[in-house]
Amino acid sequence: MDFRRLEDADLNNKTALIRVDFNVPRDASGKITDDTRINTALPTIRHLQDAGARVVLLSHFGRPKGEPDTENSLRFMADALAKRLDSEVHFSASLEADALKNLPPSTVVLMENTRFHAGETKSDPALAKKFAALGDIFVMDAFSAAHRDHASSAGIAEFLPAYAGLAMERELDHISQALDHPKPPVMGIVGGAKVSTKIDLLQNLVSKLDTLVIGGGMANTFLFAQGHSVGGSLCEKDLKDTALQMMATAKRENCEIILPVDVVAAEAFAANAPHRVCGLNEVKSDEMILDAGPDTVTKILDAIDASNTLIWNGPLGAFEITPFDTSTVECAKYAGERCKDGKIIAVAGGGDTVSAMKHAGAADDFTFISTAGGAFLEWMEGKTLPGVEILKK
Ligand code: AMP
Repeated sequence: MDFRRLEDADLNNKTALIRVDFNVPRDASGKITDDTRINTALPTIRHLQDAGARVVLLSHFGRPKGEPDTENSLRFMADALAKRLDSEVHFSASLEADALKNLPPSTVVLMENTRFHAGETKSDPALAKKFAALGDIFVMDAFSAAHRDHASSAGIAEFLPAYAGLAMERELDHISQALDHPKPPVMGIVGGAKVSTKIDLLQNLVSKLDTLVIGGGMANTFLFAQGHSVGGSLCEKDLKDTALQMMATAKRENCEIILPVDVVAAEAFAANAPHRVCGLNEVKSDEMILDAGPDTVTKILDAIDASNTLIWNGPLGAFEITPFDTSTVECAKYAGERCKDGKIIAVAGGGDTVSAMKHAGAADDFTFISTAGGAFLEWMEGKTLPGVEILKK
């Protein structure tokens, strides 16, 4: 993908406005329980400091209602960031640009929650202009917020030259390698709970991929549409026609769909619930399908062997409860090994996928794991992301 990178920017003695994503999870005592997003932002901040730029950070946090509230203040983040950056971090709740004038190079200022301003989520140009007045260039480094057309994530680019930060650059290079310009044959694995949340995604993928594995709870809807018994499984029976249409489109587009050929049926949705491997038409009315069976896993591993690129979203079964994590773990481990051997490019992301890959111990072996939820899914859906569009040359 051709987009503006930091290497294209003149940074010396400039004030760089960086859009980061500091929307971190915290426990009831306010302790940050996962600092991945802070760590993701550090390389770009350090890069700009080293280049002699002043750094002004913009982020949303939580879901305030367009006005300040104490619960959603980003003030706590200044200390958390300073510790990790090993550098002083100033905090400012004021959008007065004059307050930032004459700061020495390499100073870091964290601005208060962008969603404290009513115009943020409406991408109000007046607010975007105020944000823009705080800097000389705009650096978009929050892929996880790139699917939103907000004042601080896309609107600012109307007023300032926009560049991708280093985290954004890594994200865009990897995801475009997996779907926009992949090395064929290209395979997808889409699992998760429901078809209804992934209709656009499946539709886009069948027109782009050579092979698509449909797994998890959503496979039940496809199996039901084909006339198989699914017992008490999670199944969206009203989407039967959608599933059939999707399979017809796949056939037209020469995309091979791989559905389970055997399943693990259990008596309850609970860890170690009584279960058995059975064929598609053997699921009893009081059983539910919670995982793909061993023959299905073999088919998926064969498909991975035959592919040069893999893109993965969603688990193949109820991976949070043993032993229904088996197919997800086996396929993820195998894909990870193929990656390590340089045989495949594998990119995964979106929601539960990151924890599924970590659970399988495969996350570090994949070519890239995107931690962006909605943005990764919208990109898989083939949608245009406003926070990416602004970076295109
Ligand atoms: P999603 O957020 O759509 O990717 O869905 C992830 C969720 O799907 C996980 O919490 C899994 O437990 C769930 N899931 C996967 N397979 C099944 C299944 N066969 N039955 C019920 N839930 C499932």
